Amino acid sequence: MYDLIVIGAGPAGYEAALKASELGKKVLLVEKDRVGGTCLNYGCIPTKSLLHQTHKVSELSDLKRLGITIDNISYDYSKFLSNKDNTVGRLVKGIEFLLKKNNVELIKGEATLESNITIKVNDNLFEGANILIATGAKENTLNIEGFENCITSKAFLDRDLSNTKKVIIIGGGVIGIEIATILTHLKIETVIVEALDEILNGIDEDAIALVKKDLKRSKVKVLTSAKIDKIQETKVYLDDNEIDCDFVIACVGRKPDLSSFDKNNVLVKDGPFIKVDKYFKTNINNIYAVGDCVKGIQLAHYASSCAINIVETLFNKECTFKLDNVPRCIYCDKEISTVGEIAVESDIVVKYDLVANPKAVIENNNRGFYKLIFTKNGLFKGATLVCSKSSDMINLFVSALNQGLTISDMQNDIYPHPSFAEGIKEALSFIKN
Ligand SMILES: Cc1cc2nc3c(=O)[nH]c(=O)nc-3n(C[C@H](O)[C@H](O)[C@H](O)COP(=O)(O)OP(=O)(O)OC[C@H]3O[C@@H](n4cnc5c(N)ncnc54)[C@H](O)[C@@H]3O)c2cc1C
Repeated sequence: MYDLIVIGAGPAGYEAALKASELGKKVLLVEKDRVGGTCLNYGCIPTKSLLHQTHKVSELSDLKRLGITIDNISYDYSKFLSNKDNTVGRLVKGIEFLLKKNNVELIKGEATLESNITIKVNDNLFEGANILIATGAKENTLNIEGFENCITSKAFLDRDLSNTKKVIIIGGGVIGIEIATILTHLKIETVIVEALDEILNGIDEDAIALVKKDLKRSKVKVLTSAKIDKIQETKVYLDDNEIDCDFVIACVGRKPDLSSFDKNNVLVKDGPFIKVDKYFKTNINNIYAVGDCVKGIQLAHYASSCAINIVETLFNKECTFKLDNVPRCIYCDKEISTVGEIAVESDIVVKYDLVANPKAVIENNNRGFYKLIFTKNGLFKGATLVCSKSSDMINLFVSALNQGLTISDMQNDIYPHPSFAEGIKEALSFIKN
């Protein structure tokens, strides 16, 4: 019998398996598709690879500003796709290597739940003292006529854009905005159709305003409060409008599909998600669930942190992970990175505009800001950073939250000059003690 059987080798599953093995446990990991899950194969990594490569194309106009002339510039999008596949392949191999090195037994196949300790894969039964379900989520669908004509974000990542002139994106959330950014880098006409009255629901309003300005500058049309009547392969019918395009992409959220894994419907659900308590326990003893298959934050680093937390707690090791302060990043032209809470009226809020930041000016990259929030007693509460590499800086604020730092604690740090980060020092200097 295994100490732990993990279903799904995405960031939640493979991290859980590695941690359990590190703690000396006998672990079986089951994956029906590719190790790395959505994150490595169809999500975080391939999108960032395409963003990076297409950004190089858009940067060429900046070269002219610098006085660098390169004649006959062109790009081969099929090469971008193969570079993306190579990057994904290397990272997947890396995880497979780690699993092997750490003696995690990996089997390929679709698991089904047979009892509270038994799963079936490829007609073989396996028993585990504990089972961790980390089966992730799939693209959501909408009940709109012709919705099946939309391609998914997964299909988009393999699509050759060489001859694409115009695309409609249904959904102005994080994934929709990332895909729009890839398209704008290639100067492909883009329309975002959002049902809510604003894109990037829940994000700081100044950050949304800046993203919208950037999208407008790139000639992206953003239609909010939009009601779609019908979708054809190359046309979307709205309330008062019809828009033609080369293809339509649906980016309308993700939800789990547990119909085959939990074929006997023994797990209690919360909507489409598996219901868990605060220890990620399901209604069945010894069975836990984590990551995108449970309700909550759908991010890779949150999924893996929760998974490690479960394993450490399960095998009686003191768990050191803090799961409260989760950084969230949106990878558009100016990355938006946030952590903590949004401001209430009594809070102290400071905002530093990057317009005069020396490093940002040197790089002609000075649209953005840092907004820091403190309680009226000076306790740090949250941050929103909008600049090109904000995802690499936000952890400073995760640590500040975890350590319960105050304004004066943070004002004492020395920042390198010139750097994007020194703007944080400037922001803090706006608060007089
Ligand atoms: C386009 C896109 C971009 C994204 N970008 C980011 C980003 O930049 N940063 C970020 O943090 N998050 C991002 N995400 C979200 C991130 O990918 C997910 O939050 C993360 O992958 C969830 O991890 P998971 O382990 O819970 O599930 P998954 O990564 O989905 O892994 C679940 C695995 O379980 C397997 N599985 C399912 N059922 C079974 C079964 N019955 N038997 C065996 N195996 C099974 C699946 O094949 C899959 O490999 C993005 C998502 C998308 C779609």
